Amino acid sequence: MIDLHTHTTSSDGRCTPAELVARAARAGVDVLSVTDHDTTAAAAAASAACASAGIEFVAGIEITAVVDGRDVHVLGYFIDPDSAPLAAFLAEQRRRRIDRLKQIIDRLSGLGIVLDADAVLQPGRDDTSKAAGRPWVARALVAGGHVADTREAFDRFLATGKPAFIPRIGPAPPDVFNRIHASGGIASLAHPGLLARDNLIPAFARAGLDALEAYHSKHNADETARYLETADAHGLAVSGGSDYHADPSHDAGGPGCVSLPREAFQVLKDRCAARRATASGAATSS
Ligand SMILES: [Zn+2]
Ligand SMILES: [Zn+2]
Repeated sequence: MIDLHTHTTSSDGRCTPAELVARAARAGVDVLSVTDHDTTAAAAAASAACASAGIEFVAGIEITAVVDGRDVHVLGYFIDPDSAPLAAFLAEQRRRRIDRLKQIIDRLSGLGIVLDADAVLQPGRDDTSKAAGRPWVARALVAGGHVADTREAFDRFLATGKPAFIPRIGPAPPDVFNRIHASGGIASLAHPGLLARDNLIPAFARAGLDALEAYHSKHNADETARYLETADAHGLAVSGGSDYHADPSHDAGGPGCVSLPREAFQVLKDRCAARRATASGAATSS
């Protein structure tokens, strides 16, 4: 099984990298990418755990871009997780995440729900490589007895258009594609079925997007078929994964519940090799 979309405690997942790899190994995954939001902090530990479990590790990331105030998640694969320019860009992304959570907590207090902002944001201060996210606020709402579970926290307060929703500020997708390419990787549009902005895909393809995440745990068979066709129509490869967070209110299945076909994985690798060859050709000819 090939699972190219998972999260750890470095972002909003609940498994450490070692625990995630152990669960993936038990499920029969033999190619795994860890794609935390706006951080590569788990890459070294996940890579080491994969090596000892006999799993092929693909260095990955899920970067949040913004279009019209709405999130567009862009997956990066085969990146250099230690790239300095990428690290600087991701650090800025994480600072924006902390600022946004502060605004959300302020908004909640205006609604009469007082959370301890310091406590909610503490993990991001203790370890600046961690990417803060709304699930941290959702969990604080559960812990404070304001909602029954994190799903209710999103449905009542945190989701787009709800009373404590704060639009994100961030880079446009083409900027993110370029940064992924500059760190040696390729870019795939995450869960296009959840994004539900198919009209954006042709322009993304022209701006350097490499693939669509046609296979995702929350895509139904029709959506998967539609994105396979769309990818084909625009000369894009396809990626796929479970988007496993080890969070029952978030997950549609465990690691490996969605598996990318092996031929499609090879196409991603070939695409990456072609990009790198073009980039090095451009570098030597200039
Ligand atoms: Zn996502
Ligand atoms: Zn994800």
